Amino acid sequence: MQSNSVKLEPGDLSIVVPAQSGRSVRVSDGDIIRIVDPKGQQVADLWAFVTSPQLDWLSTAQTRDINERLFPKVGERFYSDRGVPLLTLVEDGSPGPHDMLFPACNRELYERAGLYDHPNCRDNLLLALQEEGVALPFVPDPVDLFQNSPPQPDGRLEVLPSINPPGGYVTVRAECDLLLVVTACSVDFHPTNGECCTEIEIEVVRSPRSW
Ligand SMILES: [Zn+2]
Repeated sequence: MQSNSVKLEPGDLSIVVPAQSGRSVRVSDGDIIRIVDPKGQQVADLWAFVTSPQLDWLSTAQTRDINERLFPKVGERFYSDRGVPLLTLVEDGSPGPHDMLFPACNRELYERAGLYDHPNCRDNLLLALQEEGVALPFVPDPVDLFQNSPPQPDGRLEVLPSINPPGGYVTVRAECDLLLVVTACSVDFHPTNGECCTEIEIEVVRSPRSW
């Protein structure tokens, strides 16, 4: 489950997403991206956007439809709103499960719990996009990596503590040029992220190298 066997070279990237925040990174067709949960039990929300010539975005609904699965298995792809393959899941170095049913946490979720001005994944996404000069007509639902919320037999969607161990990771390959945003989920009062919110790491190995 450890990800520290990867040696990054000049041109590659290693980005820390501090707890309860978000970061963006532009990747190119063929780049390999590893999203690592160094401390364990930390959900990472992932978005992918095509920013030119026309805005398009990773759609969890299209991905469920095209793969006919709740979440891609290794070798399957994440698709855009227009049905274009954006990312391939090349390795799952975690026990999962991952979620593609929940939206990002937002300001209102925390306000319902009596918490005001609380950090949240939606605002962290929009801030990261603002810094990239990208404005969205709406906020797509993210891929909730390491989120332990599988549908129950009776239809309930209960969020349970993440079971991702320290160093658990997911590796994807970019199938076109993309703007990625990753947030380290801000939920700090629910079992979602274990005992406390921690950081997420993004590693990018530039094409044509491989892991
Ligand atoms: Zn969140």
